[in-house]
Amino acid sequence: MKTLPAADIVIIGGGWTGLLMAKELGKRTSLNIVVLERGGMRKTEDYASDMDELDYFIRLRMMQDTSRETVTLRRNPDERAQPIRQLACFLPGEGIGGAGEHWTAQCPRYQPDCLELYSKTVERYGAKRLPENHAFQDWGVTYDEIEPYYTRAEQLLSVSGKVGNLRGQKIEGGNIFSGWYSAEYPNPPLKTPRFSAMFGEATKSLGYHPFRDPAAMNSVPSTNPDGISRPACQYCGFCSRYGCMIGAKAQPTNTLLPLVEQISRVQIRTHATVRRIIHDKTGHDTTGMNRSAKGVTYVDASGEEFFQPAGLVILGSWTLNNNRLLMLSGIGERYDAATGKGTLGRNLTHQVLFAGAVAFFDKPLNRFMGGGAVGMRIADFDGDVFDHSNLPFLRGGTFSASAYGAQPISGFGAVPPSVKARWGAEWKKAAVAAYDRSDAITFSGEHVPYKTNFFDLDPTYKDYAGDPLLRLTIDWNDNERKTAEFMTAKAREIALAMGAKEINSFAGYDHYDVRRYQSTHVQGGTVMSASPEHGVVNPYMQHWNMPNLFVLGGSTFPNQGSANPTPTILAFTYRTADAIVDRYLKKPGMLA
Ligand SMILES: Cc1cc2nc3c(=O)[nH]c(=O)nc-3n(C[C@H](O)[C@H](O)[C@H](O)COP(=O)(O)OP(=O)(O)OC[C@H]3O[C@@H](n4cnc5c(N)ncnc54)[C@H](O)[C@@H]3O)c2cc1C
Ligand code: SF4
Repeated sequence: MKTLPAADIVIIGGGWTGLLMAKELGKRTSLNIVVLERGGMRKTEDYASDMDELDYFIRLRMMQDTSRETVTLRRNPDERAQPIRQLACFLPGEGIGGAGEHWTAQCPRYQPDCLELYSKTVERYGAKRLPENHAFQDWGVTYDEIEPYYTRAEQLLSVSGKVGNLRGQKIEGGNIFSGWYSAEYPNPPLKTPRFSAMFGEATKSLGYHPFRDPAAMNSVPSTNPDGISRPACQYCGFCSRYGCMIGAKAQPTNTLLPLVEQISRVQIRTHATVRRIIHDKTGHDTTGMNRSAKGVTYVDASGEEFFQPAGLVILGSWTLNNNRLLMLSGIGERYDAATGKGTLGRNLTHQVLFAGAVAFFDKPLNRFMGGGAVGMRIADFDGDVFDHSNLPFLRGGTFSASAYGAQPISGFGAVPPSVKARWGAEWKKAAVAAYDRSDAITFSGEHVPYKTNFFDLDPTYKDYAGDPLLRLTIDWNDNERKTAEFMTAKAREIALAMGAKEINSFAGYDHYDVRRYQSTHVQGGTVMSASPEHGVVNPYMQHWNMPNLFVLGGSTFPNQGSANPTPTILAFTYRTADAIVDRYLKKPGMLA
């Protein structure tokens, strides 16, 4: 193995977190930084000419190559986990920009009490209401502490929308149930398509409070505080699972990469797959572990292995590989579900997401136009906004009516319940009629953490290089099943108020289904906490046992909010960057 000249900082992963950290540390310090990304380079120009649904949406051109590396999954320890050969329930990204290239760009914040899940739940309902086998805990950071960083993230992305709680003042037309915002979104809301407008009118008539989805898509041409200018969205509909061909959707390659490439001290190496974080016991920390990261080993496209020494290691390889790389590197104590000991791997969560009601109308919706975050939403049933005293579940989520842009393959095929045929001429005729006269009211909900949902290494299956695959043990529990029942009834009520002629309702949750897309919001495993007994990283995302190792992204979230996670991920990344520049680099050591 060849040893390379030492860098000051090595960053693993070139997605949202990796490139944001490279930009912040690159611009604000004089240090040498190496970014290692397992996939290839990407630029906006790559998307200019070949937006092919079969290639991108169905065959998942931008996602991780499962023939080289995948995960195994089981629902409980009595099952034998099986490898996922075809991605479906979540879609990990690969290549510069990571999943941030093909994301949907919905940009809500987490409910403030999500960050204090344990204390707020017990305070309102008592400890007896916590679900069996729960793993509720607080994050060690409050909403008030993270709020300024949310604002920075929204400015970075030039979010379009309307705030509903500006420093405590409730504003109709925005989300009045959200936490407080210190600033309005940079851009006005996107256009409101027909289906979303119908949802807005119906939910208002039912006494709810609709608002336009906050979106990292430009409603108007705009320039962010870093001087990055992007054009306005054209509602082309080829948005989620694609890169934006004009750069209207904020992606790491159009928002961060142009800045990072200007800094000669930052080197980006593509096709560089990190295999281990190298460490020894000669460092200093306050935990008694005396361990220190020394750098990483990685393999390039030709299969050659390198050691890249570095003074600071930053792990931003998304949830799955953040967990796997720490486990393979032997850093931290792995969680054992049988004894409850160990922290690495615990609190695996996956956002609750389903089409509560697919509504069929007798008029066209023009739903071939739209984009990832074009739509309306209500938050009247989010988090703890409504009283759960007499309900059989805790927490909640939001309903949305989005116009993603129904494409010819993936957007085709729904038929109303009165049509019994599932193939042949009758089905085809009904599906053609329904294509532009139907759409889904979607529920996005919280997933609370359980001791029984966790990550570890698979004892049987290995990747292309012979390393064990990451194993996910995950199943739904009664809290999710009862939430789904309640929310499906609400979705039906909204669909009827919208004038739906027929409705296909969500069938409900039985067990976790690996074949059904459930968002790419898989979180936990390297969770943050105020003390090392309950987490892998401290509230600055610094490893509790290794002060020169930081872990970024949703893997650090102890529970899953109903909102899509990236604004929260970016907010915590900014906070960590500040802590590294303002405190760690001045006096290396534990920050908490
Ligand atoms: C289809 C889709 C829609 C989404 N929509 C939304 C949305 O609307 N709103 C929202 O908030 N979020 C959304 N997300 C989630 C969002 O994309 C992620 O939260 C975000 O990208 C996380 O940033 P990250 O840096 O942690 O990970 P990523 O952006 O995935 O970047 C991680 C990078 O690390 C690299 N990597 C992994 N392992 C290694 C290794 N061993 N060595 C070197 N490199 C490695 C990967 O190749 C990848 O490029 C969506 C995701 C998908 C897939
Ligand atoms: S819908 Fe808008 S943001 Fe999305 S890909 Fe098309 S132009 Fe870009």
